[in-house]
Amino acid sequence: MKDIETGDLESLWRVRSETHREAAATADHLRVVMSHSLFVFLGNIAACSTLSAGLWKQVPQGLLLAWMGVMVLFSTVRWLIGRGFPQGPLSSTETRYWERRFILSVAVSGALWGVAGGLFFVSDHRDSNLYLALHIVSMCAAAAATLSYHRIAYPVFLLPAIVPITVNMIWDGVSTSKIMGFVLPFYFTLLYMLSREIYQTAHESFLARINSQYLAMFDYLTGVTNRRAFEETMEREWYRAMRERRMLALVIADIDNFKLCNDTYGHQMGDRMLKKVATLLEKRIRRGADLVARIGGEEFALILPDTDLSGAVALAESIRQDMRVSASRESDETPKLTMSFGVASLLPEASLDPGILFRRADAAVYEAKRKGRDRVEFRSD
Ligand code: GH3
Ligand code: MG
Ligand code: MG
Repeated sequence: MKDIETGDLESLWRVRSETHREAAATADHLRVVMSHSLFVFLGNIAACSTLSAGLWKQVPQGLLLAWMGVMVLFSTVRWLIGRGFPQGPLSSTETRYWERRFILSVAVSGALWGVAGGLFFVSDHRDSNLYLALHIVSMCAAAAATLSYHRIAYPVFLLPAIVPITVNMIWDGVSTSKIMGFVLPFYFTLLYMLSREIYQTAHESFLARINSQYLAMFDYLTGVTNRRAFEETMEREWYRAMRERRMLALVIADIDNFKLCNDTYGHQMGDRMLKKVATLLEKRIRRGADLVARIGGEEFALILPDTDLSGAVALAESIRQDMRVSASRESDETPKLTMSFGVASLLPEASLDPGILFRRADAAVYEAKRKGRDRVEFRSD
């Protein structure tokens, strides 16, 4: 299972919406079932070999060999699918793609055991039939442990695997087989119920972990990332920019006279304005690597990887203009807010202190405030 890597933007956005959190949980479920691939492969090979060996005298050998060949081939394919499952976080589309492949492979696997239960049943031959049933029952019990972590994988395996053997046992002339045939559905129902329990428990724990990651990284009021995510992302982007020899820009945006806005219009209106500003900032951030964070009460920051000073200043200036346009459209009952921006951009180097970018942008905001607010200032040295 993979946790959100600190500052990994893709992972951050993954937990942002509830649908994405559900998809992230599904990916976690898949990751667990895929991690069982080797056990499933070995279990299938062992079970199909002992079954074929035990039925060697009762069932046509060509049939047994053909079934075993398909089983070995298919188990290998299923194992390879499991091995190919990506390590990192998955997008919703990737999750759906892997889920389809996985479910299909599970259905085929169940069907192959179903074929055994249908073709290898020898009427009125009690011992070989019990031997066959025992194998299928064991496979279904083992599958409960490996497949329950997925929402529907277990029933998808169970149904095709059990129907033929159960029907054959019920119709058989031998009373022991008949009794077993009637007991099997109850046993499989119990296994299915147990598998639902396992799934629910796993799902709740996956979602709880994902939700707590969400709460730890996003600001409750505005929905943009919080100070913690900002600091972790800054550190990560600093070292990434140093490795890739790219510029890194930071914009700090502070709402002007926000205390006055609260005092005049009330705290609730203040909160509404904070959300509005956050939405406006997010709308202007288009590139996947950029990040908007609320780093203080009425203070926001934009991390802009691979952006030089003139690009970052131009962006800050256009956001400042947007604020003005948006304020001019407001009714008289709504505060008309402006913002002051501090911009800094540099090429990170090992000799520099990582905090320097923040200090420069912060000093530039201070400068903007000093010069009268509603303006963009920058530091280039
Ligand atoms: P300046 O132009 O110099 O930035 O002045 P300012 O009033 O914006 O700055 P100051 O730091 O004096 O005050 C910030 C105010 O932001 C104080 C507080 O009332 C308000 N504030 C901080 N967090 C929140 C919040 O979550 N909701 C609301 N409604 N107001 C907040
Ligand atoms: Mg302020
Ligand atoms: Mg402030």
